[in-house]
Order: sequence, then C-alpha cells, then structure tokens
Amino acid sequence: MAFHLNDPVTALKNVGGKREKLYEKLGVRTVGNLLRFYPRSYVDYTSPKLAAECVPGEPAVIEAKVLKKLTPAPIRKNMVLYKLLLTDGLSNVMLTIFNNEYAYYDMKVGETYLFHGKFSTMGGNYQLTLSSFIRAEDGEVMRPVYNLTEGLSNGMVVNNVKEAVANWGRLLEDILPQEVAARHSLMPFEEAVRTIHFPSGKDAYDRARYRLAFEELFLLSMSLLLLKGRDKGSTEVQIKDPDMGPFYASLPFELTGAQKRAIGEILSDMSGQVPMNRLLQGDVGSGKTMVAAAGCFAAFKGGFQSAIMAPTEILASQHEATLKKTLEPLEMKVCLLTGSLTKKQKDALRAEIAAGTYDVVVGTHALVQKDTVFQRLGFIVTDEQHRFGVRQRGELVKKGERPHHLVMSATPIPRTLALIVYGDLDISVLDELPKGRQKVETFTVHSDKRKRALGFIKKELEAGHQGYIVCPLIEDSDSELMAAVRYEKIIQTNYFPEYKVALLHGRLKSDEKDQIMNAFKEGKIHLLVSTTVVEVGVDVPNATIMMIENAERFGLSQLHQLRGRVGRGNAQSYCILVSDNEGEENRRRLQVMKETSDGFVIAKEDLKLRGAGDFFGDRQHGLPQLGIADLLEDSALFRTAQGEAKALLERDPGLEQPEQMRLRLYMDEIFGNNDSGLN
Ligand code: ADP
Ligand code: MG
Repeated sequence: MAFHLNDPVTALKNVGGKREKLYEKLGVRTVGNLLRFYPRSYVDYTSPKLAAECVPGEPAVIEAKVLKKLTPAPIRKNMVLYKLLLTDGLSNVMLTIFNNEYAYYDMKVGETYLFHGKFSTMGGNYQLTLSSFIRAEDGEVMRPVYNLTEGLSNGMVVNNVKEAVANWGRLLEDILPQEVAARHSLMPFEEAVRTIHFPSGKDAYDRARYRLAFEELFLLSMSLLLLKGRDKGSTEVQIKDPDMGPFYASLPFELTGAQKRAIGEILSDMSGQVPMNRLLQGDVGSGKTMVAAAGCFAAFKGGFQSAIMAPTEILASQHEATLKKTLEPLEMKVCLLTGSLTKKQKDALRAEIAAGTYDVVVGTHALVQKDTVFQRLGFIVTDEQHRFGVRQRGELVKKGERPHHLVMSATPIPRTLALIVYGDLDISVLDELPKGRQKVETFTVHSDKRKRALGFIKKELEAGHQGYIVCPLIEDSDSELMAAVRYEKIIQTNYFPEYKVALLHGRLKSDEKDQIMNAFKEGKIHLLVSTTVVEVGVDVPNATIMMIENAERFGLSQLHQLRGRVGRGNAQSYCILVSDNEGEENRRRLQVMKETSDGFVIAKEDLKLRGAGDFFGDRQHGLPQLGIADLLEDSALFRTAQGEAKALLERDPGLEQPEQMRLRLYMDEIFGNNDSGLN
C-alpha cells in the first residue's frame, strides 16, 4: 500500500465514518493533518513528587507502590468506585478511580506505578483521583494531551497518532533550507513531529518545539517578505522637497518628536518612485490627524488631491472640521462627501471633485463608489480602526494613478505583530503623546455606588467641564434602545436638571448625530449619554469625565478607545468603570485598565485574553497559520527566523536553486502560483 499525507484519517486503524466526523470537528481530515495536530499539553511523568510535596486541588504525578486493592463499591446506577491504597515510601495515599474498570484490574499489588490525577487531602489523609497512569519502568516520559471532542478520547487520538507517525512519518519532508537547519542545529522535521507527540523528556520536547516553531515563523516571514516585495509598479506622484514651512508655522502647537519622525517618513516615501504603503500606528490622542494633514499639504504642494476615508460619519465630519481649520488658512479647499447628502448634492460635489476644485476630500464609504472620480488623486488616508477590509482599501487606491497610501490605526499592537497583521505595509509609530497630557485616573465601582459616581460627574460639570456616559447597547435591539432612552431621561431629570444632557446612538439619522456632536463640541450639551458611537476618534478636549456602564461587556481595546475620549486637554480627567461582574477574567481586565494607559500594553493583554484569531479577525487571511509558535512569546525566535528568510531571499531572490524547490512550491501554493513575485 502506498502511503500519502493526503490520505483521509479513515486510512488509520479503528477510524471509521463516526470517528472521521469527530476528527473533522477538530479540523483534522487527513493523516497529514493528524501529524500536525500537536498536543495541547503533556502529563509530565518525568519528575514525580512525594504526596507530602503536592498541592491540594492541583494535578499531580506521584510514584507509588500498590499496597492493597479495596473491593469495588457501586455508588449509583452505572457508577462504580474503585479504591487502592498506595505508598510512596513516606506516606500512604488513597487512590480513587471512577468508572475505569480496566485501570483497576490492570494494577497489581506490590507493583510500582506513576499515577497522575487530582491531588487532595481529607481529614489529614492524602488522596489522588486518577486521570492516567503508567508502569514505573516505562518512566521518563511525557504523555501527550490532545484537544478532544465528545466521543473522542485522548487514548484514541494517541493510538491513531502512533500509527500515523510509524507509517506516514517518513513522508514528512524538510522544507527548511539545509544550511539554515544546520546553522540553528534544528532536528529533521520528521523527528520533530514524532518528538512533539511523544517526547522522551523535557529536553527533547524543547528541541522539537523549537524546530517546529522556527519553521512556522520562517515560512510566515518568507511569505510576508514576498508579499511586501511584490512589484508595486512606479508612480507619477513624486513630490520632491515640498516647502512644509507654512504648514508648520500655522499649527497652534509644536509637533511631538514622534509626529515629526512619522511625517519625515511619509514625505520621504512620497518623494519616491514606489507608491507609499504605510501604516501609522499611534495610541489614542497621539495626534495622528495632524500627521495625515501634513501628507495632504505635501500632496497639495505637488499639485495633487488627497482623499481621507473614515469609518463613520461622525468621524468623517470631525476630520473635515479639523482639516478645514488647519488647511484652509493655507489656501487649500476641503470638502465632505458622505452617504447622507442628497443625490443632487452628491452629484454636484462629485463634479467639483472631478474638476479638481477640492484639494482634500473627506468621506465615508461613499468615497469608493464608482461615480466618485478625482482629477489628480495623489494621497490617500484610510482611518482604519479595523473596519475597512483590504479590498475596500484597494478600491480607493484604484481611484488614482498609484497614489501614496497611509493607513491609520488606533489599536496599537506590538511591532512584531503589526508586521504580521499588516504585512504588506511599512510602519510608522507615534509612541509619544503631546505635552501636558495627564494620565486618565480610572476607578472601578459596583452599580450600588452609581449615585456617588454621578455626584462626582456633577463636580466636573460644575467646574465647567463636560462628560460622557457610555451604555453598551446592541444597536438593533429595540428593548435595549428603550433602556438607553429611559436611562438618559432619568439622568437628565433626576440628577442633572440644571445641565443639558443628550442621547447619542447609532440609529439616529446622521444629521441628527452631527447636530448633537456639534452641540457637544460647542459646549451646549454638558453630558452626553452615548452608545459606542463615540468610540472612534471623537475629539472634545473639554470633556474630562467618562462613566462606562456594564464595563464587562466591552473588550479591553474598546475600553481603551472609549477612555481615550477624555484626557485630550490639559485638565486632569477621570474614567469610572461600572461593573457588577465578579468573574476572574473581568476583574483582571478592569485591573489592567486601572493600572495602565499604554495602548500597546493593553492590546497585548487583550490579545492574551482573547487569542490572536479573535483579535485580528481575518486580516491574516491567506498567510501560513501558526500551530505551535506564539507570536507574543516567540518574538525573539521570530526575529531570528525572519533574519534567515531575508538572507535567503537576498542570496536567491527567486528561490531558483534546486535545493529550494520544496520551499518554492510551498510559496507558490500560498500565493496561488503566479502571484508570489517569484517568477
Ligand atoms: P488621534 O491620534 O487619537 O487621532 P488626534 O489626531 O485626534 O489624535 O489628536 C488629539 C488631539 O491632540 C487633538 O485635539 C489635536 O488637535 C491635538 N494635538 C495633536 N498634535 C498635538 C501636539 N503636537 N501638541 C498638542 N496637541 C496636539
Ligand atoms: Mg483620530
């Protein structure tokens, strides 16, 4: 029989249609998939403990001799309790086995075994509830523990994997270049896979994991490099040494060092032949808009139009206002194109955009529609906030002749991660806040302290400041909307009769939203009760206090974004997180919010809590998946692997040498043959 890694799992013993379905649930269809179905953890039999050293309530491995087998005791229908008395040489331990007849009858009095289970104490006596055991002479092993699904036991998977390793293992070929493997003393792929399933000990495990993680990160780096290196063509938009003096002179403040550096990077890109593709990452309040404005000014100096796409109307109109204030004194014309204009208004505006009347066009999705045509589009900004897909960005780019493109993101993530998620972009980071900003003081309270919190808000309003109260609201649920409406009424009449309170939510018409936002900006509304529509970008420096109801319903990054709406001026600002949820995870999240205001740290915590898949959605789509490497934990290894991938591409840009054939085939597969840029 010829073996193939694509053989279905049913090629294995004891795997029929039923088990095939169970495996499918775990994403395992072929024997090759099963070989790469790495254990979730291990039972480590290599360092057993004495019962006296074990921690009650925790899993433990104890080496002990069977002194006596007690008579099985039926405790319920279909439930038999088996007990054995053990000694580890120092103390006695009562071993309890539930419903595992086989284990009980297999164990012999006088023999020594390694027992793994949950350790506890009862009236001064040691107890162990059995999970698994091995004979002492089989010792020095780590037993794999797999992710399972109902109906599929760990033992079944272990047996299937054993057979797969024995008969299919030799088909696992090394894809990593020989010399790279040699330089880092990597074990062969086949050995690594075998070892990761059945390590003989901790050292073997470490070496196997290193080998596998190295390969994953190497392949990921390689695809990112190819993605980035793809021919982007050259652009007509080359703006050499624009005179930025008037722009800097007109600003009411000194730019931060980080802003200057980012602007420098952007101007340098814009003077070149290759269209810019750059990510501007910065924490909330770091002043990304001014950096974008500098790019618009440079484009204008070069005779080009700019377009700025924002994810919501509120944000688009705010950008328009900021840019008008900054750029119109410099003789630039700024307009706003959104879906809420009438057809007639849109047509008129589009005609002017096509004629080149406007230098900067700010808008929402309406910008990418077919009938928006530019006269000379040279610079594009997308204010991403995780809301635009790669495709929409692409559509806007097509509106110009290879315009320069800046992506702004307010969810700062660690650099290594940014490199992966935005693999096709260069990165500028605003890692500095404008001077005078103070840390937003953050409290967490139970809802029974709401009254006091409202009193605190009142003090801020009395001092002439403004505030937000955020209610989590599922935007399409009528009952929740009603609750928010009622909430706002109560707040207005019972607590703040002498102030103006207003409600802002996503189902208002956009001109209504604009009216409310403008009134808030002008200070005519003192307290804004709002759903998460204030989350992105809203900038009202006089707002100094925010209270967030049901804080447990928000993700960490979202809480950080929300909190970023205050602390934008010079006055001390506050954030009150209201939550009655006592869960461990929630407590930890709120603690993080209290302790840090660093968006990078918060994003990292968010990632740990939610897992990378959830955090990024499908941004990574198409790139090699990581099975064992961890982007957060393995960042040093990632740099090493990346260095090797880079060096290899420098030596052999097309991966043409015969020994790179497997690697090349792999890359062709990832990119769909013709698109890898390797041809
Ligand atoms: P974000 O990065 O969150 O989008 P914004 O661009 O909205 O930040 O800027 C936040 C606030 O800081 C705005 O009111 C803006 O005018 C102000 N700002 C930007 N740069 C500076 C600076 N260098 N010094 C002082 N204030 C600044
Ligand atoms: Mg912003």
